[in-house]
Amino acid sequence: MSKRDYYEVLGLEKNASKEEIKKAYRKLARKYHPDVNKEPDAADKFKEAKEAYETLSNEQKRAQYDQFGHAGMNSQGFGGFGGGQDFGGFGDIFDMFFGGGGGRRRDPNAPQQGADLQYTMILDFEEAIFGKETDILIPKDEECATCHGSGAKPGTNSKNCSHCNGSGQLNTEQNTPFGRVVNRRVCHHCNGTGKIIPEKCTTCGGEGTVKKNKKIHINIPAGIDDGQQIRVAGKGEPGKNGGPAGDLYVVIQVRRHEFFTREGDNIFCELPLTFTQAALGDEVEVPTVHGKVKLKIPAGTQTGKTFRLKGKGSPNVRGYGNGDQHIKVRIITPTKLTDRQKELLREFNEIAGNDRTEEQEDSIFQKFKRAFKGD
Ligand SMILES: [Zn+2]
Ligand SMILES: [Zn+2]
Repeated sequence: MSKRDYYEVLGLEKNASKEEIKKAYRKLARKYHPDVNKEPDAADKFKEAKEAYETLSNEQKRAQYDQFGHAGMNSQGFGGFGGGQDFGGFGDIFDMFFGGGGGRRRDPNAPQQGADLQYTMILDFEEAIFGKETDILIPKDEECATCHGSGAKPGTNSKNCSHCNGSGQLNTEQNTPFGRVVNRRVCHHCNGTGKIIPEKCTTCGGEGTVKKNKKIHINIPAGIDDGQQIRVAGKGEPGKNGGPAGDLYVVIQVRRHEFFTREGDNIFCELPLTFTQAALGDEVEVPTVHGKVKLKIPAGTQTGKTFRLKGKGSPNVRGYGNGDQHIKVRIITPTKLTDRQKELLREFNEIAGNDRTEEQEDSIFQKFKRAFKGD
């Protein structure tokens, strides 16, 4: 039987106010309450109205219902309806309608996927750029070899839990003004597994699994960057009851380099030059991750000027070619000068001062100077 829409049950429009919801429910409750109405379907109608009211009178639940319909109300993963969450006083009555959240309803013997694992790998700057193959050790749950996963001492068997008859859940009944309420709880005798192990395996203590360091081969692709992750399918924790294993996620962290930085596939660095190199021009060797490269500095290079070395960046992690290296010039002003050097510089300054080009006159530097002199 398909479930009726909550608004339809209460005979309301989707935009009904809180007051209208309350009124409609009261009317139906009076009409169908099992104490007053002895018709055979009255109890079901009362329950239906009660359920609709429980949901629509709570803003959070109503929003969830409006968005997902009935599917949002009792399945896992929508948040807010899981076991253990308190919804401000609904408590046990709420359990009657929603089974206390999907988590408690799970069959303890159904196949379950194993948990995903996460491993953080720290790489040097160059290792990230060129990639590498490596083995890592991951502490993983592994089926206990002594008991083959049963958790029972060899020669003994686990038994169905007598408290929950192997269902992993306990039902408790309670009388309330609305009738008898059935609560489902995780069976605390067997922790919801439905099984009791009278004699536990001594190797795993009854867990059925043991932690073991497992060697896993990881292939880090060239061009990987800080914060990216590699998914290794099926290398997480093993599944339960024949379910598939989880995945392993290797999260990459890249150490800072002494002078290179990286943005995407491009690499950046600064090149310190003396002011004579910059003024007169020079040929210098600059480092790249692919080795040293000769770079021609033209005469009259300014600080902040950037040179681009095409293809000298990082390879693209998806194989779309290489980035570039960008080299930004920084002119170093000398701090320790000999008397002779000072003398030459003063002489240079005199000549330069008497021989200004038009370009120099117009430079921002000249405008700046004029502004402060006031002429
Ligand atoms: Zn064992
Ligand atoms: Zn039990």
